[in-house]
Amino acid sequence: MNDFNVEVVTTAKTNLMGLDRVAMEAFFVAMGEKAFRATQVLKWIHHEGVTDFSLMTNLSKTLRSTLAETCEVSLPDVVSDELSQDGTRKWLLSVPGKSAIEMVFIPEDTRGTLCVSSQVGCTLNCSFCATGKQGYNRDLTTAEIIGQVWLAKQMLAEQYDTDDRIVSNVVMMGMGEPLMNFENVVTAMQMMQDDFCFGLSKRRVTLSTAGVVPKIDLLKEVCPVSLAVSLHAPNDELRNTLVPLNKKYPIKELLEACNRYVSDSARSRITFEYVMLNGINDELEHAQQLADLMKTVPAKVNLIPFNSFDGIDYVRSSNSRINRFRDVLHDNGVIVTVRRTRGDDIDAACGQLAGDVMDRTRRSEKIRQKRAETTP
Ligand code: SAH
Repeated sequence: MNDFNVEVVTTAKTNLMGLDRVAMEAFFVAMGEKAFRATQVLKWIHHEGVTDFSLMTNLSKTLRSTLAETCEVSLPDVVSDELSQDGTRKWLLSVPGKSAIEMVFIPEDTRGTLCVSSQVGCTLNCSFCATGKQGYNRDLTTAEIIGQVWLAKQMLAEQYDTDDRIVSNVVMMGMGEPLMNFENVVTAMQMMQDDFCFGLSKRRVTLSTAGVVPKIDLLKEVCPVSLAVSLHAPNDELRNTLVPLNKKYPIKELLEACNRYVSDSARSRITFEYVMLNGINDELEHAQQLADLMKTVPAKVNLIPFNSFDGIDYVRSSNSRINRFRDVLHDNGVIVTVRRTRGDDIDAACGQLAGDVMDRTRRSEKIRQKRAETTP
């Protein structure tokens, strides 16, 4: 009752999509139910893909109707769904607040990787990234992050006509800086690993960060998944211009945090991502500097050919420049791979994700035009 003696009716239902096992157990105990209801409901939602409480047949009818009155299992809406010629699939998803995010699935021979977003937009404004150019809108909720994995699993099961594990790996490399939305991202990544949800091993969940140093230490304590670091430059002067966050957490501090992250796990390495920008960070001296840095931390380097987008001046390094850069690293004993560009016919490649609906519409037009031009 409030000051006016009017009963306040709240219509907001609890979204069970965002509850991990601990939260779900607390939820059922608080409503006077046994804690094991939590794992039953988690299995319905995440293993069986059931979101309708009336179908959860191992719960009593009374409980099912109470849940239907007080809870929901709500997911982002699918706005568009595109399939690249190379099998890469990209979805545009809308979330409350007139926002949209993108999610990408990349099939390979031995694995299937889902690239998930953590924020609507991003605050970091890296100079070569489409998401950064779009600005920042808000953090995604846990339900919106884990909901991406849930949706992909359902839609891929239809596409591939099997319930087998099509999503074998999840990378937090979509829109946003995951360590700037720490709690929601960690809860979602714990659900990815929970056997009652998606049951992925911690090796198969990767978080990519531009280098939020204190949060790297926290991550090691609470959820030590595989770590990728977006380095992109081998010295502070250059990195300050590409990744402005470097002014706050310079390379030395970042690499120290990386060393702490892997300090008690002898076999794991940090993946360092390095976008190849012609004439900017791809000179031989940069390769040598990078090789020297990489001797100070258990590392593998992933060279990413720059993916262009409207209104950006950078140019992708040529294959020969990428190869000679790779060779310097290799000759210095650094493990190095070149990322194959996937899905660029549907703007699904690294750094091209931008969920703005208006922008997306323009891109659809562009794709339609491109297809019309090339179709006889
Ligand atoms: N904020 C996180 C995760 C999102 S970006 C991070 O910075 O790691 C995922 C990867 O794509 C990062 O390594 C990012 O630097 C890279 N990337 C961004 N824009 C790119 C572009 N235009 N071409 C190629 N890679 C890009």
